[in-house]
Amino acid sequence: MRDLYEVLGVKREASQADIKKAYYRLAKQYHPDHNPGDKGAEEKFKEAANAYQVLCDDDQRARYDRFGFDGISRGAGPGGAGFSSVEDIFSAFGDLFGDFFGGRGRGGRAQQRGNDLKTDVSLSFPEAVWGATKEVKIRRDVPCATCKGSGAKAGTKPETCGSCQGKGQVVHAQGFFMVQTTCPRCRGEGQLIKDPCAECNGRRVKAETATLQVTVPPGVDDNQTLRLAGKGEQPPGGGPSGHLYVVLHVVGDERFRRDGEDVITEVPISIAKAVLGGEVTVPTLDDKCEGTTTVELKQGTQPGDVIVRRGQGVPRLDGRGRGDHAYVVKVEIPKRLSARQVELFKELATESGEDVGDVKRGLFGRVKK
Ligand SMILES: [Zn+2]
Ligand SMILES: [Zn+2]
Repeated sequence: MRDLYEVLGVKREASQADIKKAYYRLAKQYHPDHNPGDKGAEEKFKEAANAYQVLCDDDQRARYDRFGFDGISRGAGPGGAGFSSVEDIFSAFGDLFGDFFGGRGRGGRAQQRGNDLKTDVSLSFPEAVWGATKEVKIRRDVPCATCKGSGAKAGTKPETCGSCQGKGQVVHAQGFFMVQTTCPRCRGEGQLIKDPCAECNGRRVKAETATLQVTVPPGVDDNQTLRLAGKGEQPPGGGPSGHLYVVLHVVGDERFRRDGEDVITEVPISIAKAVLGGEVTVPTLDDKCEGTTTVELKQGTQPGDVIVRRGQGVPRLDGRGRGDHAYVVKVEIPKRLSARQVELFKELATESGEDVGDVKRGLFGRVKK
């Protein structure tokens, strides 16, 4: 039995992306559609699928790395793991082929995946940070209950299409080549409906509005998309459902600016605080972003100084801790001063050996009494 990495032609430390890419390449090369009747190609196609099935699963891969074929032999027949037929491969990796080959029909009506759907969800800042359960309403087609998705009137059945003998594909000669195209008569369905179902007019599906609960994990950000596998449309002829993609829109919060998992908060302080140091109260993400804590400013804090609270930022999506919360000091220069304050600043300047000259009252615009 050939080494699985060798089968896919990848290194042992290959990333999942590389493994997937290698498998795509081989699956395309040895695909039965491209090599009709070629037994050798079919074997290669199976061999690649078997290797991919093990290596695409981190757990299986780790066991294979440690124990070789013994580590993965449970339930596997002679000749390696899992697949003995090409059909099994298509049902297991149908998704993958769907992406890659633009869907396919093999020896019968195309078993298609249902349509994917997309919806938008708006989140407040705390919801994005701490997660939430949101209700979404979606319009989707579901298989017609009256005809159970067949499209045919009760008591009748769809007839097998005579043009393609139910295959959904027709083969015709074009020059030297045999070209396979979707059957124009049944449009790839493989069957024709004589008496359409009155409920769905032969469409096989009916629209419904569904209300779904979407669990938003902590740490999501604006414009990210959640995929709810299998929550899209169900194809009327059976087969896997499509996915629901939920695009997240996060409303900003002026107290917190996000930079991935890190959060930046601007902290305005007075000149006196900057010079003398001391404690300052700052907002935190705790208590649904309504928390506060105090941070210590050293004497002579400069504008732009940053105080970092490690691990107090946004939770990481992979569940491994939190980012940091950075507080950026902004020193506020007073725009309005009382006469006494003007005197004190002048005195301060004199003490520092600085000549500020005559301070006209008008310099500060309106001088407070
Ligand atoms: Zn047909
Ligand atoms: Zn119907």
